[in-house]
Amino acid sequence: MAPARVTSKAESESDQVGIHVEMSRRAVFLDRDGVINRAMVRDRRPYPPAGLADLEILPDVPEALNCLKAAGFVLVVVTNQPDVARGTTRRETVEAIHAKLAESLPLDDFRVCYHDSGDACDCRKPEPGLLMAAARDRDVGLERSYIVGDRWRDIEAGRRAGCTTLFVDYDYDEQQPETCDYRVKSLAEAANIILSDPTPLRGGGGPTLENEDQGDPS
Ligand SMILES: [Mg+2]
Ligand SMILES: [Zn+2]
Repeated sequence: MAPARVTSKAESESDQVGIHVEMSRRAVFLDRDGVINRAMVRDRRPYPPAGLADLEILPDVPEALNCLKAAGFVLVVVTNQPDVARGTTRRETVEAIHAKLAESLPLDDFRVCYHDSGDACDCRKPEPGLLMAAARDRDVGLERSYIVGDRWRDIEAGRRAGCTTLFVDYDYDEQQPETCDYRVKSLAEAANIILSDPTPLRGGGGPTLENEDQGDPS
């Protein structure tokens, strides 16, 4: 049933020094506001911090990310920042926040959609474009990866990409995800689930990214 090329994590990482490793990597895709830093909540709805002065990394996030990093996960922030398209936030402000987060947290990549819904881009969550692009660039197997987010758009983007979804439920007064694999209260709780997940392979197993790179040994 399982394709022969599926190997265990240990095999793929230890036995093949210097040889192309077929097993793709695993990622945890992280929504930003409400997952890594505290969202500004007004009328039970979340908003991004307006700038560095409002930026507060949530408790236990550094430890949770360090544990995931130590377990070998690629850590990719995937965030919608439509206020840039709406003209109420400057792109430089968003970038300054990401620089600040990158300073103190073991994050590998920041993927940002600066569009608004009317732009019909393929990266604004619930579209899975941010996850797909990061997966391509970093040899990540989406079926073996996770998304953690606090809004339905995050969970739907993860579902469309084929990831396991973990919803951080703050009981916001807004549309809720139709389904999620896990419902949690914090990134720390999500990390514990991810780190103890015995069945990371979904949909029959194996990397789904097309297998490029046939020749070129060297
Ligand atoms: Mg959020
Ligand atoms: Zn976009």
